[in-house]
Amino acid sequence: MPQLSRRSFLTASAALATGPAVAAGTAAPPADVVIVGAGTAGIAAARRIAAAGRKFVMIEAADHVGGRCVTDKRAFGVAFDRGAHWLHAPDFNPLMRLTVRRGLEVYPAPASQKVRIGRRYAREGELEDFLALQVRANRGIADAARKGDTGCAQALPNDLGDWRPAIEFVLGPFGCGKDLAEISTVDFAKSLERTADSFCRQGLGTLLASLAEGIPVKLSTPATAIDLRRGVAVETPRGTIAAQTAIVTVSTNVLASGAIRFAPELPKRQADALGNLALGSYDHIAIELDGNPLGFESDELVFEKSANARTAAILANVSGTQLCLIEVAGSFGRELSASGEAAMVNFAADWLANLYGNEVKKAIRRSQATRWNNEPRTLGAFSAAAPGGQGARRVLMEPLQNTVWFAGEAVHETLWGTVGGAWESGERAADAVLRRLGGGREPATADTNASPARPAQRPRPAPRYYAR
Ligand SMILES: Cc1cc2nc3c(=O)[nH]c(=O)nc-3n(C[C@H](O)[C@H](O)[C@H](O)COP(=O)(O)OP(=O)(O)OC[C@H]3O[C@@H](n4cnc5c(N)ncnc54)[C@H](O)[C@@H]3O)c2cc1C
Repeated sequence: MPQLSRRSFLTASAALATGPAVAAGTAAPPADVVIVGAGTAGIAAARRIAAAGRKFVMIEAADHVGGRCVTDKRAFGVAFDRGAHWLHAPDFNPLMRLTVRRGLEVYPAPASQKVRIGRRYAREGELEDFLALQVRANRGIADAARKGDTGCAQALPNDLGDWRPAIEFVLGPFGCGKDLAEISTVDFAKSLERTADSFCRQGLGTLLASLAEGIPVKLSTPATAIDLRRGVAVETPRGTIAAQTAIVTVSTNVLASGAIRFAPELPKRQADALGNLALGSYDHIAIELDGNPLGFESDELVFEKSANARTAAILANVSGTQLCLIEVAGSFGRELSASGEAAMVNFAADWLANLYGNEVKKAIRRSQATRWNNEPRTLGAFSAAAPGGQGARRVLMEPLQNTVWFAGEAVHETLWGTVGGAWESGERAADAVLRRLGGGREPATADTNASPARPAQRPRPAPRYYAR
């Protein structure tokens, strides 16, 4: 994609802000595009549409942009990414090339990881076993995927021994937000290997918000219905927006919940696809550990050699601060988050005490837990296809009546569940809309648009969020 200079972008979007758009009962001329949702995909789409000089209206249900990629700077006085935090595969992550000259610091994530076995760290040989077994587990899933689309749990080697629960946690809940039995082998195998990661010191949500600067967004304006019977009419509590086309970026769980009524109804094909791409559960239990009592390095990642699924991971001393994120996910994480924030913080304190001794509890200062399953504008964390359901991602790429395009992390075959994937899908939907309107650039093929050269796709040997 030709780089959009900040100046040309702001000029374009400012011009569009003055254009017609929301018709609260008036007969404003239709916009070219209405974009529903100002998360990663919506922002990417809006930038692309603005660059092409087309008129758009972007509406967002929340009172802020960012969706599942948002930084809270107030809770702890330092950047706390409530959703996405890792910038995966910086070599070909579409956001990386946009960070330049934004005054934000992006730095490589440390390459090491640790595993706690009871009250001690795993020794080198034990760590090697753990990593080697993970490689075998990944290979087992990739081999199974070549034969058909089944559940990842069935594809695991039988001889993982007492490392099995830890491997199941890392590949399933920690990597994909779901237990392995609920994840499609093909979806898992298609997700690109992430050989390195980066962090943004000011928060990934801060980075995304900076990319939305200058884009006119109608906040606190939820779409309640989308009528396709004559052009596009998007109903909101503030009036109806008429447009020629629409890009809908809300999560699969929000769409499946019926929060946005479609007229005519969503075809069964799309409704089934939403069911196959239900969101998993993934939450951060954020705690401040006073004085670094456990001697963590900056951004240190620690897993547990667990005996069962009631486990977590810790990302300690986020960007060198006292903020530590205890990550809970999958069916255990879902159950825990349903029992409330206090129960989550208690779990985190007990889990840490179990691994490091009771003294650590005295060092805990402020705490807070996200509960994405309860967040009505998202209703979960990120998608992972159900066994047999990987094809749903392509189904969601198909437009409705050549008028409405879906976009978002779920609408990407290899980078699903990531900010990079959401961004690319937003750009792809914008390209399709521009082509439909005429005069737009040709969209690139699925999953490859807009990114710098990327490595050949191959089954990943390491899990998503800490592939090293
Ligand atoms: C806890 C957690 C950790 C994660 N960690 C990582 C990570 O480390 N790295 C990574 O790359 N990814 C991570 N992810 C995934 C990443 O956050 C998502 O893939 C990405 O942010 C999704 O962007 P999106 O545009 O598809 O959807 P969203 O961000 O959900 O955007 C959709 C927008 O639509 C809005 N909306 C909803 N309903 C309506 C309506 N009716 N009308 C108008 N607007 C509406 C929402 O408020 C939202 O702003 C994580 C996610 C979570 C939850």
